Amino acid sequence: MILQETRAAESEPQPDPQCPLDREELGRSTWSFLHTMAAYYPDQPSSTQQREMGQFINLFSKFFPCDECAEDLRGRLKTNQPDTRSRHSLSQWLCHIHNDINTRLGKPEFDCSRVDERWRDGWKDGSCD
Ligand code: FAD
Repeated sequence: MILQETRAAESEPQPDPQCPLDREELGRSTWSFLHTMAAYYPDQPSSTQQREMGQFINLFSKFFPCDECAEDLRGRLKTNQPDTRSRHSLSQWLCHIHNDINTRLGKPEFDCSRVDERWRDGWKDGSCD
């Protein structure tokens, strides 16, 4: 099974890392950054950190260089502002936003109880060690 997946990936044309990013690559890189940032956000952030993280995500939604994505995110932020009270709450908020976007794009949902394994600690089976 793993071998088949590897062969399938090998036969797909891989993007040249020295060329501008398309929407998929930009999306993947951006999610990596956002989830990793949430994974290392303080457990007990100061009120300044909480406010600034909220500002960062709102400003990010104005400059993310995919117009459709940024507009969609701004719409979500109107009714669902970032929960910046702790590392856990920010990681969960982001996971749920990402899942909402996954659903819209017809992608599978991610199990948000495993967000730390994916973005901070590595999978419990040791495959990232
Ligand atoms: P991605 O969705 O990029 O996910 C990368 C990795 O994150 C996955 O392999 C998985 O390991 C992990 N992951 C998946 N879901 C979660 C989750 N819920 N929580 C934590 N980790 C998770 N594309 C569009 O076509 N239209 C849009 O409107 C759009 N809006 C976007 C908005 C934002 C803010 C961002 C950052 C990207 C957006 N994109 C949009 C891009 C899109 O979300 C994907 O990044 C892109 O399609 C590549 O998808 P992918 O299948 O490689 O995995």
